[in-house]
Amino acid sequence: MPRVMVHNVNDDKQLRDFKDLTADAKELIKAAIEARQYAYCPYSKFKVGAAIQTGDGSIYTGCNIENGAYPAGICAERTAACKAISDGKRDFVACAVVAQQDSGFTTPCGVCRQFLAEFAMARDFPLYCAKPACPPLQVLATSIRDLLPRSFSFLGNK
Ligand SMILES: [Zn+2]
Repeated sequence: MPRVMVHNVNDDKQLRDFKDLTADAKELIKAAIEARQYAYCPYSKFKVGAAIQTGDGSIYTGCNIENGAYPAGICAERTAACKAISDGKRDFVACAVVAQQDSGFTTPCGVCRQFLAEFAMARDFPLYCAKPACPPLQVLATSIRDLLPRSFSFLGNK
């Protein structure tokens, strides 16, 4: 039986030392770590924090907010995005996501990838995935388009 080659987005080449990141990226990750403490996750117990930087330098944070009616819950990334958008900011320049799992990094779920891709059509933006130790040692540096190439759109400007 042939060996199956698997492409893994958690590739080593995407791992960056936190200390080597830009000041903006570090600030964004720290904001996501801070936001994670407010997660409302009595069902999964899986705390997630997110932060989005917009073109004017603002940082919007979010946490996951679960609900007893499970589908009504919302992820940290969309919480942050909704806060920015409802404040008139759609020009996302970077996003950070923070959660703790023993192996690997937590990346946005499929719904959040699609949601964020809507705001990455004109310009892809970096996405930093980190663990909540502050400061984290390493960060997975990727981008929305890397995580979701060929996202759904009927606007036609891919
Ligand atoms: Zn999500």
